[in-house]
Order: sequence, then structure tokens, then C-alpha cells
Amino acid sequence: MNKYKDFDGYLKEYPTTDGYFGKYGGNYLDDPELIKAFNEYAEGYYTIAQSAQFIAELRRIRRDFQGRPTPVYHCQRLSNMLGKTQIYLKREDLNHTGAHKLNHCMGEGLLAKYMGKKKLIAETGAGQHGVALATAAAYFGLECDIYMGEVDIAKQAPNVTRMKMLGARVVPVSAGLKTLKEAVDAAFEAYSREYKNAIYCIGTAAGPHPFPLMVRDFQQVVGDEARSQFLEQTGHLPDKVIACVGGGSNSIGTFIPFLADPVEIYGVEPLGKGAAIGDNAASVNFGREGVMHGFNSIALFNPDGEPAPAYSVASGLDYPAVGPEHAYLHDMGRVNYVTVDDNDAMEAFFMLSRYEGIIPAIESSHALAYAMRIAREGGRPCSCLVTLSGRGDKDLDYVVEHYGYGDEFLDKMAEKREKA
Ligand SMILES: *Cc1c(COP(=O)(O)O)cnc(C)c1O
Repeated sequence: MNKYKDFDGYLKEYPTTDGYFGKYGGNYLDDPELIKAFNEYAEGYYTIAQSAQFIAELRRIRRDFQGRPTPVYHCQRLSNMLGKTQIYLKREDLNHTGAHKLNHCMGEGLLAKYMGKKKLIAETGAGQHGVALATAAAYFGLECDIYMGEVDIAKQAPNVTRMKMLGARVVPVSAGLKTLKEAVDAAFEAYSREYKNAIYCIGTAAGPHPFPLMVRDFQQVVGDEARSQFLEQTGHLPDKVIACVGGGSNSIGTFIPFLADPVEIYGVEPLGKGAAIGDNAASVNFGREGVMHGFNSIALFNPDGEPAPAYSVASGLDYPAVGPEHAYLHDMGRVNYVTVDDNDAMEAFFMLSRYEGIIPAIESSHALAYAMRIAREGGRPCSCLVTLSGRGDKDLDYVVEHYGYGDEFLDKMAEKREKA
């Protein structure tokens, strides 16, 4: 099923120099100033980021500032309770700021420094990317402008406070629905004006070339560490590697080092409330090929060709497209894109908290829920390596308001499973 042997020379071939993974990727922006800016960016990345000095400095930052390597942890209590499958977590929740996003933000910040830029520009929806980028800006002594819809600013007060505390400027966007889409437009517009002085930082492995490449490379530290840690702890490779997919950064960083291994790989998309349009954000499962946000990939479209509304209980997963490399790995049959709905994700959220003392991000709970499904199905005992992309502190107020502390919810889920 998985043609892993074909992936030996993969990294040398993909993406092509103009940013294609098969037919996916590229740069479909129509503003000539922006195209110029992204080309300069790609050139900077290809030359600077391969230098020994850049690599050594990034390695030091990962160790001394981010606290890497993050551990791989064997969930013995949870595994034993579910059956014979052994679940292991790659603990990105223990990366500084509590999620994997800082891995690429520090890379982008370091690149800005080497390219002589003075400012980082980005948009943010739930605020997680904004906080990670503001952290990088503070570390490197760069200015930081974060564009955010006014509706999101009101909803995400704690993250707005964090960004301001870190010295970033949060720029309110009042156009349209005042959420992420308008913030993206405003940030792109600012970047086309300011690119001589600033660089733009996308929050995931999507967007026009070179972002899918760059973010993948900066996130690969997750998979590289996890692979050697797992080998050292168990003496073998995991049978299955699992990560959640929003735009696809923590997952692609996890998957890349395993592509040429005899390992099954699963990208978990959010099924939200169900299969209907607007009820989920499972782009690969329900979407089609098309250009969205300046790159060609698989995305969720309305019948009129506009981006479809995306929904998930995890705000970090509600993006209507997926990075182009995931579209390619899907077409190649190398990665299985599966779905987990809100309820299964929330059950995993509460169970990991209770059985292992780790409160996960709701995003990451989707990946864990898929490993739990494998364990419950009770086939041949196997080992699952799950990337826990972040911690759940940011989600606690929301969870308590909608699901309480989990007692009733877990009873209800157990009842449902008994009936099934
Ligand atoms: C943003 C986020 C995600 C989703 O983003 P990817 O680019 O798909 O990795 C997943 N988990 C957490 C904790 C996040 O903050």
C-alpha cells in the first residue's frame, strides 16, 4: 500500500525550485510587488539557510531558548487501559510557548536577521501564531506587526495580551467579517508595501513558495528527534506515525523523516460536526484541487468557487485548505488522511488529562484520538507515535464552558461505545 521505498531521494526532488510538489504548490499571487518579495525571500532562504553558520545558530537556539529536544513519552496507563497497542507522544507541548509553532517562527526570525530585515509581519486567527511570532521578534530584537480581525481580538483576549506583553503591535482589521480572511488580506497588503524592510511569516506549511518548503524544513526537527528517540527507547521504528493536520506544519515536520521507512503514516483531519459543507475542516477528505490563498492544493470550496467556511472545535485546525505537500503525499498514497470528529477529540483531551497528567491542545487531541481508535479496534498489537503538537492551557476556559470537567461527557461517550 505504502510505496515507502520510492521515497529515498524524495527531499532532493521535492519541491522543485519553483515550489512544486507534483502539480501542487507554486506561487499564484497576482500582485507583482508581492511576487518580487516572495522571490527575494526564496533566494534568501536557498542561500542563507544552508550555511553552516545559520544551521549552527539555529541549533543553539533550539537547545538553549526553546528547550529542545522535547521528549518522547510512553503513555503506559492509557495504553494498558485501551488494550495492547502502545501509544507514545512526541511532546511538542513542552517546546517553549507550549506548541510546535515556535519551531518555524524562530527559523523565520533568524532568516530575517540574516537578510537584514527589521520587522516581522503576520496575520493571526486564534492568536497562537501571533504569540509564537511575537516571541521570536522579542528574541531577535525585531519589530513585529500582527494583523488580527476585530472579532478575533475580542474573542482571544489572553493571546492579544501576550502579544502586546512581548512587544508586538496588534493591528485591528475592521473589513468584512473581521476575522482571519480579512487579516490575511491586510497582512499581505502591508507586506507588499514594506517588504524591503520586513519579512512575512506564514503560520503553517502552506501559502505561496517558499513557505511550504521553509516551514517544513524548520519543523523537521520534530520528526528527526522523534525518530531517533523512539529507536533509542524501543530498539525499533514505530508501526504507525500520527499527527493532526490544520495547514499541515506539525504533521509534515513529523512525517518527512519517516517517508522512506516501512511505517504507516496518518494525517488526522478535523471532521468537526460531520461531513456537510461548513461542518468540518477536512480539506483532503472532502475538498478538491484548486488555487486558494496564492497556491495550488486541495481545498474546501463553495459551489461558487469561493473558499468554503471551515469549522472545528479546535480553532487551530479550521483552515479550508491544506499545504501542497500533503496534497501530493495523498495522491502518492504515502500518507493516509483520516478524520476524527469533535466528540472523539474531546474524549481524548479528557482521557490524556486524567490518565497521564498531560492536558493536550484540542488540535493535538485529534491525533491522539486516532491512536486510541486503533488501540480499541484491537488488531495486531502495534506501536503508535503521536505528535502532541501543543498544550491545552489555552483551551481550558472554552472546555469548561462547553464540556465541564469531563465526568458527564466521558460517561456519555462510554455509553455510546458500548451500544456501538
Ligand atoms: C496551529 C496549531 C495546529 C495546526 O497547525 P498545523 O500547521 O497543521 O500544524 C496544531 N496544533 C496546535 C497546538 C496549534 O497551535
